Amino acid sequence: MPKKLLALCLVFIFTITLHSQNNQQKTNSQWLIKNTNVVDVLSGKILKNRNILIESNKIIAISKKNKNYDNVPASNQIDASNKYVIPGLWDNHIHIEGENLVEDNLALFPVYLAYGITTVRDCASDLGEKVLSWRDQINSGSLLGPTIFTAGRKLEGINSIWKGDLEISNESELHLMLDKLDNYKVDFIKITESTLDGSLYTKSVLAAHNRGYLVSGHIPSNVSIETLIDNGLSSIEHASYVLRLGSDENEIISKLNSKEITKSQAEQLYYKNFNQEKAISNYKKLAKKGMTVTPTLIGGKQLAYLDENDHKNDAYLQYLTKRFTDNYQWRIGRMAGETAEQKQQKKDKYKRIAQQVPLMQKAGVTILAGSDSAALNTFVYPAAALTEELELFQNAGMQPKDILKTATINGAKFLKKSDTMGSVNEGKIADLVILNENPLIDIRAVNKVYGVFTKGQYFDRENLNNMLEIAKNKKIELDEKRK
Ligand SMILES: [Zn+2]
Repeated sequence: MPKKLLALCLVFIFTITLHSQNNQQKTNSQWLIKNTNVVDVLSGKILKNRNILIESNKIIAISKKNKNYDNVPASNQIDASNKYVIPGLWDNHIHIEGENLVEDNLALFPVYLAYGITTVRDCASDLGEKVLSWRDQINSGSLLGPTIFTAGRKLEGINSIWKGDLEISNESELHLMLDKLDNYKVDFIKITESTLDGSLYTKSVLAAHNRGYLVSGHIPSNVSIETLIDNGLSSIEHASYVLRLGSDENEIISKLNSKEITKSQAEQLYYKNFNQEKAISNYKKLAKKGMTVTPTLIGGKQLAYLDENDHKNDAYLQYLTKRFTDNYQWRIGRMAGETAEQKQQKKDKYKRIAQQVPLMQKAGVTILAGSDSAALNTFVYPAAALTEELELFQNAGMQPKDILKTATINGAKFLKKSDTMGSVNEGKIADLVILNENPLIDIRAVNKVYGVFTKGQYFDRENLNNMLEIAKNKKIELDEKRK
């Protein structure tokens, strides 16, 4: 069969499947996941022999006893004995980006579900308005994909390196842009520091915080982490910044401000002067102030080990269009001309950053698992990169029960949604992933997805494979069309 025809057939079969599932819901919206092991992410324990009763998209009961479930039709009863039910996974840092990648991004939404990711936090992009509209369409049920929380577009300085940001040079522009984001009804504010000066950056954090927003951001070179947290910064994106906490940050900043050293010399100092004990004591201090960090290790790792790992044959490339992966050259290009010494330092730095994750977690810092998957982030694959990120946390020495929190309840807590999302409990939204293996023994079990329940629908392995097949064919179709 020609590939195009095959793709069409699959879309057709899949639509029929979804359609019949929707029809079933009209007649009976109850579902039952039977005889299963519920992974309680709060206690890090397994609750054995549980039955999870779901009505439309809510968990209405979790019981141990074999109650009478006669009103749940046999076709809506899922036997999940010897399986493990976890909350739907959250990727807490992605970018749905690329003005010319609209179809490409849309085709990846079902792929997230197939990987067990039922919620994503989009940390701003040049597709801001589109992402906001997709968020609303997914919420209303007219589009199938993970629940999206988004910052829309991010605040930056004038002529930054980013496309499609909201660039400001003074406080009145800052307030105009915040008005714009108010109108967009964004879920949080994202601020980065490519050209945004430290003092306006700090004012932006405070202004957004005073409007009641959660504020996620990078750390400008001439402001301390503590100052930003005191001004209302809610989360630090990328653990590379926390290496600063192993030195006397204020001392280095004052040298920078007096032009005694440059930005890159400051970076070198943070790395050379790094003292682990000092860092840990600062983590404890900032944990008390409610610090949250999204480490996004995988992106840094992919770049640091580019010379050792050949990604040509990565299986995931079957879902990504040529136009999508063409963007990978941007970061590769920026690294061209690096000396062997610089390459080695990149690896050493990556290792040190990764080591900080379990130490921050032990100190009480809230860790959010986020992949930073984006067209611009080389070999950080949408959906698949989250499970890689979790594996890197495990390799760094974090316990599976703590890792699972970073990709479930912590994201919900951060966005103040933990009353309805993030764990398997009565009354919560039924975003559930059924795994073949126990993720509390080895976090890589999140790759063994048996089925996903989300948006009031159950997708078994066959449905999920169909979703992946459709995404694969869409990639072929888009590449052909653009030749
Ligand atoms: Zn990012």
